Amino acid sequence: MRATSAGRARRRPKTYGGERVCAEKRCETRLSRYNRETFCFAHAPTKYRRMRGEFTTEYASRNS
Ligand SMILES: [Zn+2]
Repeated sequence: MRATSAGRARRRPKTYGGERVCAEKRCETRLSRYNRETFCFAHAPTKYRRMRGEFTTEYASRNS
């Protein structure tokens, strides 16, 4: 566990905006503000797609 000193609030982790959705035009998948990607998993750049289908499918279903 991380020890957080009480009293003074630490700076928040870097975020990438509030309500963001996938950059794909017709996709409305919401992206986490901690996710620096601009696309959802289904439309993510090839670095994700190149992974094994089982991984991608599992990951997508968990996030849909
Ligand atoms: Zn998408």
